[in-house]
Amino acid sequence: MDIESRLSGHWTDDQLIEHLYGVGPEDGHLQICGECQARLSAAQSVRLRLETDLASDCEPAGYDFLMAQRRRIYARLNEPAKSWTGRWAPAFAMLLLLAGGFFMYDQKSRQDVSDVELAKEVSCMATDSEPPSIAPLHALFEE
Ligand SMILES: [Zn+2]
Repeated sequence: MDIESRLSGHWTDDQLIEHLYGVGPEDGHLQICGECQARLSAAQSVRLRLETDLASDCEPAGYDFLMAQRRRIYARLNEPAKSWTGRWAPAFAMLLLLAGGFFMYDQKSRQDVSDVELAKEVSCMATDSEPPSIAPLHALFEE
């Protein structure tokens, strides 16, 4: 409720909108005030316009629209299927890339790390599984 309307005795915009939806104040001001009646009719016309706009936007699809949609679907179904390579080429290329990457990685790791080094590394990881950030916590429990 804006203060101007409250001072002048006129209904606020909120009150007018509430009246449009049947829950407005029942103080009879609307019957005696031409200004508020004019504002109300303006609000009513805006509401009517919005409702008709919404109705036309949300209008259930007409027969013509549905027929056109059906024709498009049938046309798409009747299109000759793309060739195997056209449909699967991207997936095949990706697979090739992954396989190549894995092969390169495998080659590199075999060159760099001998079996002994690998075993050492794994055993270090096993014994050293505690992250260094835990160490201060142990100090809390030691007496
Ligand atoms: Zn008024």
